Amino acid sequence: MNIIAASGKGGTGKTMIAANLAFAVSQHESVSLVDCDVEEPNLHLYFPGPVVSVPVKTLIPRIDTEICTFCGKCGEFCNYGALSILKNNVLFFREMCHSCGGCGIVCPEKAVTEEEYGIGTVEIRKPSTHLTLFSGVMNPGEVLAPPIIRRAKELGQSGLTICDAAPGISCPVIEACSDADFVLLVAEPTPFGLANLRQMTELVRLLEIPAGVVINRSFGRDAVIHEFCEKEQLPVFLTIPFSRGFAEVQNSGSLIAREFPEWEQKFLALYTRISAEVSR
Ligand code: SF4
Ligand code: SF4
Repeated sequence: MNIIAASGKGGTGKTMIAANLAFAVSQHESVSLVDCDVEEPNLHLYFPGPVVSVPVKTLIPRIDTEICTFCGKCGEFCNYGALSILKNNVLFFREMCHSCGGCGIVCPEKAVTEEEYGIGTVEIRKPSTHLTLFSGVMNPGEVLAPPIIRRAKELGQSGLTICDAAPGISCPVIEACSDADFVLLVAEPTPFGLANLRQMTELVRLLEIPAGVVINRSFGRDAVIHEFCEKEQLPVFLTIPFSRGFAEVQNSGSLIAREFPEWEQKFLALYTRISAEVSR
């Protein structure tokens, strides 16, 4: 089963919820936890330890200007504007290349070959017997997040995978959700939280993935989220109160499921409810 923790904006606590859920479940069964927020991965802060790094590479074109006739066909084909054909040179803008391989296919002179280019790594940590963390890390200045997310998910594929998606509703989130069985939407009970929950709900409906909600930092006035969830038939599985004690645990780099046994049970109950929804 593949569970994705997601939210339309940063700072809602989705990373904390993914970490607590993985920790609680890993006390009983094996879990792969995957950090898909490859621009700013931070799940490892909850689970420090020795790292094994696996490079992530993509293929980029290499043009042999000895063979090239500068006909311009590759430049016309490239939808991403990564190739500009001059009178006697071809300019390649690597940051714009999406590694589709199309320029090599359309070149009549076979002047295009492909070469590997490193865009990031997947860092693997094993904080406990039943928990393995796979963190996608994009190299500084890179723009292609999806191949790194794909690789992190491939390496982390197991019986139960819990992924922490990047905030927002763009390509990296869609890539993280692409094979999800369930999306756990994390929302704050504020007008901003509601606006973001609305966006995320549209996305999961578009992708046709079942979803449920966790309300985080609740002051006990969550009507705005409950009304929306009722209208959209989204189950609210868990409400985490705003608490100084929780903030202190969080700031010390620990987990509420680790420090408070009753919260380990609550995250286990969350997992049980998600499993029941998935097998419905
Ligand atoms: S299609 Fe081939 S021959 Fe034509 S400009 Fe591109 S690399 Fe050169
Ligand atoms: S591989 Fe695709 S995206 Fe990259 S330069 Fe060639 S056609 Fe453009």
